[in-house]
Amino acid sequence: MNERPWTALYPQAVSQAEPTGHASLVEAWRARVRRQPDARAIAYFDAALTVREVDEATDALAAAYRSLGTRRGDRVGIYLQNIPQFALSFLALWKLGATALVLNPMYRRQELRRLIDDSGAVGIVCSDADVREVAETLSGSSARWTVSTSPAAFQSRDDPRVFSGTERRAPAAGGDLEELIEAFRGAAVEPPELGPDDVALLTYTSGTTGPPKGAMNTHGNVLSVTGTFASWIGLRPGDAVYAMAPLFHITGSVINATIAMLHDAVLVLAGRFHPEVAIETFVEHGVTFTVGSITAFNAIHQLPHASRRHFASMRSVYSGGAPIPPSTIDRFQERFGVYIHNVYGMTETSSAVIAVPLGTQAPVDEDSGTLSIGVPLPGLDARVVNSSDLPVGPGEQGELVLRGPQVVPGYWRQPEATASTMPGGWLHTGDGAIMDAAGWVYLVDRLKDQINTSGYKVWPREVEDALYTHPAVHEVAVVGQPDDYRGEVVVAYVSFKAGESAGEDELIAFVRERLAAYKCPRAIHVVTDLPKTQTGKIRRNVLRDHGAAGADQ
Ligand code: AMP
Repeated sequence: MNERPWTALYPQAVSQAEPTGHASLVEAWRARVRRQPDARAIAYFDAALTVREVDEATDALAAAYRSLGTRRGDRVGIYLQNIPQFALSFLALWKLGATALVLNPMYRRQELRRLIDDSGAVGIVCSDADVREVAETLSGSSARWTVSTSPAAFQSRDDPRVFSGTERRAPAAGGDLEELIEAFRGAAVEPPELGPDDVALLTYTSGTTGPPKGAMNTHGNVLSVTGTFASWIGLRPGDAVYAMAPLFHITGSVINATIAMLHDAVLVLAGRFHPEVAIETFVEHGVTFTVGSITAFNAIHQLPHASRRHFASMRSVYSGGAPIPPSTIDRFQERFGVYIHNVYGMTETSSAVIAVPLGTQAPVDEDSGTLSIGVPLPGLDARVVNSSDLPVGPGEQGELVLRGPQVVPGYWRQPEATASTMPGGWLHTGDGAIMDAAGWVYLVDRLKDQINTSGYKVWPREVEDALYTHPAVHEVAVVGQPDDYRGEVVVAYVSFKAGESAGEDELIAFVRERLAAYKCPRAIHVVTDLPKTQTGKIRRNVLRDHGAAGADQ
């Protein structure tokens, strides 16, 4: 039996692509510096940085981070939106042999502190607006230094849609990033010898139980994904890649930022996603490729003045991270002449590992109406297995399991979680799937409790834990509820202690103080009792399927 039938669906350029053979991301970057030092590497509104400028700035920044005490193998947090300093920081850290811990700037204090504590990060780079909060939150933690930066740096246009309310503030104790670049200009660090097993990124996912887990994306993992996906999307020198996904998510850091930096393209950044700014950026910078969540494409679709003109330069458009209704793809194509290709990836697979071949339209599974996520990318072994871990036949449902050079070797300092999630190197995705005889994969069920809202993943337990700290709350169950725009939204079912109560707004505000906005329930339903199993476990699935009526079952 052919173990990888899907290779017959590969475009010719993909089948013939040669692996680049670099030992590390730094080596791959240096090869680009030799190839095209004067090409544009990063564009940000009216600012542009050439490859040489990025190289010199990151040499200086590496020296600055080292002078603050950062050494090979150390973890350093990057707590920023999609701004050039994000990419400059991770490249500088890689030049030091350090690991970039990517952090969502929407995280509130406790969320940030937990990840700094778990990773043992030695420093953090943040926006100057966050300096005070970061200093208070990280006081007494392993993070010995903070460097800050202004999102308004480098550019001078100050588009009010992105920069309103942005003022330059006093830098953190460790210094201002731009000033550090100037102060250390010319002071390169001794390059450490890095190999494919060194950890480039630490990307956290939480989970149903236990503490958050840091997936260790190695240099080899990231090189594998950027190499295979660059040939998949037909990336060519001079292309412009717009970072629609947040750089703190694996999709943004790997197949928006790193892919552009290593594969001779311009990385186009425009701060936090804003649909109007995005389509203008496509035109201004002649964007040829982008990938983002389907909610971002929905936001563009809602703009009355968005037109085909805005997409004129696009050659490949992908969306991943969340299910895509086939009708969304159709109406987008009708209006803009652009076919959105589906792509599947996980934090643990260093982003894209299954995708629709460029120029091919994904089939739809007749029974479930599900759009295929694509076929496995080069190097990936993909199987659908039953509950005894045995492969099922084509068209049969089971769990999607993956193995290959894209899959992380494990979770940071969590050998048990690694062993249970990736036994024998096979990553158990928690996604219920079928694969047809040709190798097209369809996600037909979610075996994990995760809620997927606009591509952001929310684990019910985290929201429940936050609500349980409210004095009036007796029991809570948090579930995802279908939503046309976001895919799913978070809703909570709450019962109160005898004689106690709290308003919906109060409870939502209570969560908002503790968790990132996307984790906050959109609605809170008060029930007298939550549905439970005979052993007393709350049955979230009953509430998900039947709403508040499920509480009476
Ligand atoms: P994350 O680790 O945040 O990237 O989340 C990974 C999860 O997102 C997967 O296990 C899937 O449940 C979901 N996911 C990723 N890509 C897709 C896609 N194209 N369609 C549906 N779900 C997806």
